[in-house]
Amino acid sequence: MKFLLDTHCHTVASGHAYSIISEYVSEAQKKNLKLIAITDHAPKMPGSCQEFYFGNLKCLPHKFDDLEVLYGAELNIIDYDGAVDLPEETLQKLDLAIASLHPPCITPLPDNTELIMKVMENPYVNVFGHLGDPRFLFDIERVVRHAKKTGTIIEINNSSLNPNSTRFGGKKLIEEIIRECQKINLPIILGSDAHFHLDVANFNYVAELVKDLRDELILNTSVEKFKNAIAKKKLLQ
Ligand SMILES: [Zn+2]
Ligand SMILES: [Zn+2]
Repeated sequence: MKFLLDTHCHTVASGHAYSIISEYVSEAQKKNLKLIAITDHAPKMPGSCQEFYFGNLKCLPHKFDDLEVLYGAELNIIDYDGAVDLPEETLQKLDLAIASLHPPCITPLPDNTELIMKVMENPYVNVFGHLGDPRFLFDIERVVRHAKKTGTIIEINNSSLNPNSTRFGGKKLIEEIIRECQKINLPIILGSDAHFHLDVANFNYVAELVKDLRDELILNTSVEKFKNAIAKKKLLQ
């Protein structure tokens, strides 16, 4: 299976990542990728950039020869109503928005099902980031079904399976999420969550977990399939 896109990359703007956009572009071209998304952490992550950064992404080019680059954000979920940390007028300008649960920005509930479902109802949230973090437990069947209903893409995050990750320990949960998606034919997206450009499209941990999935259930194998999945949420509004 060939992975042609990676929709989760952080640059120095995130405050704890170490590469710049042009380094990601060169590395993605070297790996013959067709599309990448730069998704820096939204403002509530300590040390990240401010709203103005996301408001000015319009000055960046989207095409670098055969490589397409999308500019978005990894939003922080900041309260139990599912609010995120960029205002609507900025969200409208993003090419892609991932929403994720991060402990510096929200304390886990004993059961996070309702919270995750509320976030999925936000029309601007295209992707739910790193589901399967063992600190944020939820009803997998209900959440996966709600993702399908709302047109939200579930991300299977490579970095969550890295033994050095703060999210480490969720392999069984992630496998169950994948199985549940497979059951209802819901395509997933793999995200590297690169914090250094050499890790763009590094799916070394997750590749093993999805090796038996049919091609059409993995959005990283086709730009068109990925764009159709993004467009689906808009159609459901
Ligand atoms: Zn994250
Ligand atoms: Zn991230």
